[in-house]
Order: sequence, then structure tokens, then C-alpha cells
Amino acid sequence: MTNPRAVFLFVAILATGICIGASRVTALPALPQDAKEHVTRALDSRAQRNAEIAHQIWELAEVGYQEAKSSQLLQWELEESGFAVESGVADIPTAFVATYGSGEPILGILAEFDALPGLSQAAVPERSPLASDAGHACGHHLFGTASSAAAIAVKEWLAATHTSGTIRVYGTPAEEGGAGKVYLARAGLFDDVDVALHWHPADRNDASPGNSLANKSAKFRFHGQ
Ligand SMILES: [Zn+2]
Repeated sequence: MTNPRAVFLFVAILATGICIGASRVTALPALPQDAKEHVTRALDSRAQRNAEIAHQIWELAEVGYQEAKSSQLLQWELEESGFAVESGVADIPTAFVATYGSGEPILGILAEFDALPGLSQAAVPERSPLASDAGHACGHHLFGTASSAAAIAVKEWLAATHTSGTIRVYGTPAEEGGAGKVYLARAGLFDDVDVALHWHPADRNDASPGNSLANKSAKFRFHGQ
């Protein structure tokens, strides 16, 4: 179920210098090869821990804006790894910002952790609902975990090489219909960010150099059979 290597997507994005949703910066210089190796090694060294975190968030399966324990778990991990964590940002109890480093560039990584109602599922490859209601149907247990892991790996590289720059994890609640990021943006939390990187679990590993600067929601009701 858990694929610790999902975090590689971030490394690939960072390493190839693709910026998504950037306003001030359109391209980052490619990282030297040893930087990629350093970050990759840092990720591999924490693979078991990351798998445990992902599994815990899978088991918690908290729906949007109620992801208290999942959010707390990621905040603890980041804090323990040397990040300064500000929780409850934008007046959302489960939203947080975790920051390491100083100066520019300021790299943001989005971390989601909300589950979906009505889709509870045991950690097996066949359909096997649990007594509980919600489940991680589209992999947000990996999402927040890998985003935090990627940031920690980048932080270790920044620290080891005395490189200036800021890495920031945005704990963004309620992707599934709750528009959590809209309120974070409205609170100005992205104003000084050079680039906000985003990813999503899928059935393939690739980089999607698209950008996303707006969010529009609609509800559809279907009647009949
Ligand atoms: Zn999703």
C-alpha cells in the first residue's frame, strides 16, 4: 500500500527545476548531481519511518477539517526534524505551516491528509470496508507524509551544505471539496513564496508542469436511477 518512493516525485521536480504556480520565479537552476544524491539518500534513510507515518494516517482516516491527529502527527515529525511549526493558521485548527531555513528562494510544498467519507478500507488490495466510515481513497495518507519527507530531506541538504534558502511545508486541510488552501491564500500565507510544489498519488511517476492559481467548485445532483 505504502510507497515510500512516492517522495521521489518532489525530488524530480526540484532537481529538474520545474516551477509550478510560480509568480516571481520561472525557473530554478538545476541542482548539481550530488545534491540529488544527498536528498535521495536522506529520503531512503527515513523510508521505514515514512511508511509508518503513512500507515498511521491511513488508519486515522480523518475527513476534511477534522484531520486533527493526522495533522498533529506530521507537525510532530517536522518539529522533531528542526522545523518551526505554526499550527492553526488561517483560523483553521488542522492547518499548519512548518518552516526551516532563511532567505530566498522560499520553496513551499503542500501537504494534504484528509480522507473521504463512505470509503473506509482495510490496507489490502481488495475491496474490504471497515466498520468506520471514512477512508483514504486517493492516497492522501501518502500525500502529506511524502511532502513532509521531501521537505525534511531538502532541509538536511540545506543544513549540510550551509545553503541559504527556506523550505516550507503547508499543511493544507480538506482538499476533498473543502478548499482549505483558499483560506490559506486569503490569509496571505503564500505571498512571499517563490514556488509552491504540489503532487498527488497516482498510478504512475511523472512530473506535471502545470500551474494552478484558482479554484472553482460546483455541486452536481443526480436524480433517478
Ligand atoms: Zn486527492
